[in-house]
Amino acid sequence: MFVRQDVKSFTEESLVGWLGQHDISPYRAGQILRWVYHRGAYSFSEMTDLSKDLRGFLPERLSISRLETRQVQTAKDGSRKYLFRLNDGQHVESVLIPEPGRWTLCISSQAGCGLGCKFCLTGRNGLARNLEPSEIINQVCAVRDDLLDPSSLTNIVFMGMGEPLANYKSVVQAIRIITGNNGLQFSGRKVTLSTAGLAPRIEDLGRDVRVGLAVSLNATDNDTRDELMPINRTYPIEMLLSACRDFPLPPRRMITFEYVLIAGVNDTPGDAERLARLLRPLRAKINLIPFNPYEGAEFKRPEEGVVRAFQKVLLDRHYTTIVRRSKGGDICAACGQLLPKI
Ligand code: SAH
Ligand code: SF4
Repeated sequence: MFVRQDVKSFTEESLVGWLGQHDISPYRAGQILRWVYHRGAYSFSEMTDLSKDLRGFLPERLSISRLETRQVQTAKDGSRKYLFRLNDGQHVESVLIPEPGRWTLCISSQAGCGLGCKFCLTGRNGLARNLEPSEIINQVCAVRDDLLDPSSLTNIVFMGMGEPLANYKSVVQAIRIITGNNGLQFSGRKVTLSTAGLAPRIEDLGRDVRVGLAVSLNATDNDTRDELMPINRTYPIEMLLSACRDFPLPPRRMITFEYVLIAGVNDTPGDAERLARLLRPLRAKINLIPFNPYEGAEFKRPEEGVVRAFQKVLLDRHYTTIVRRSKGGDICAACGQLLPKI
C-alpha cells in the first residue's frame, strides 16, 4: 500500500512531474487541477474526461483533501467566522467579511503566532505550528463551497491567524495556487498579504509573486514599536520602510499601512504627524484600526474624537486614510481577536 499524496500539495508544475514518473501525460495535470479548483471535485470518479484506467489508478496514489468545518458563526453585521479542525487536532479560523455586492475572505497562515505583539490575542499562546499550503488553500475552498454564489468571493486577505511571512514557503505556494489559472483564479490584485514587518521576506515576496502588501506599523518610533511588536527589535522601522520602498507595486497601487490606535499609547496628533512624515517617501494609504478589546486585554480603544483627530491630520496631509471599523466584534472575529476557544 502506498501513502497517498494530497493533490492540493502540488503546484501544476510539480503535478506534471509526478504524473511523468507514472507515465501519465503532462496535460492531465491541468485537467485534474481544473476539476479540483474550478469545479470543486473531491473524488477522481467524477472527473469524466479522464480515462477509466486513470480514474481507477489515481485514487490509489492521490487524495483530495478538505478541511473539517467545526463551526460557523454569523455576526450582527453579516460577517461569518469559520472554525476549522486540522488533521492533527489544531484549529484555525477564517472570517468572511461582507462588502457591497461581494465578499472578502480573511485567511490564516499559522495556528497561533510566534511574534507576540502585545495588543493581539492570536499571539497570546504563541505558535502551535505553520499551516501546509493545502491547509491555507482549503480555507478558501471550504468557504467558497459554502456560498450560494461562489463567484461573489472576490478578495482574499492574509490577515487571519499567524504571520504569513514567517511561513514563507507554504504561503508563497498557496498564493501561486490561489492566483493560478488552473488554480483558484484570483487576480493577484485581489489578494493582499499583511505582515508585522519581516523586512527581508518583504523583499523576497516582491520578487516571487504579485500580490498587494499591507504592513502593520502601529507605532512611529522604535521605542514604542519595540514594546508593542517585539519583531521591531530585529527589523526596526527604518529597515522595514526601506524594504517597503523597494516593493514592486503595479501602477496606481499603494501599500496599506495598518495602524492599531491604542488609547494613550500611540494615538496623539504628534504620532499622526510623525506617521505622515515617515510614509512620505512611499506610495502609502493608511488603515486606522481602533483597538479591539478582548477579555484580559491591557489596552483600551481611544475615544471617537481622538480617532477622528488622528485621521484628520493624515487626511490634511493628503493620505487616503480610512478608519476600519472591524467587523464581527460580537463573535470575536475582528482584527487581532482570532483565538479558537476549544
Ligand atoms: N501577522 C500579520 C497578519 C495578521 S493581520 C500582521 O500582524 O500583519 C492582523 C491585524 O490586526 C494586524 O494589522 C494587527 O496590527 C491588527 N490587530 C491585532 N490585534 C488587534 C486588536 N486587538 N485590535 C485591533 N487590531 C488588531
Ligand atoms: Fe502575530 Fe500579527 Fe498578531 Fe502580531 S499582530 S501577534 S504578527 S498575528
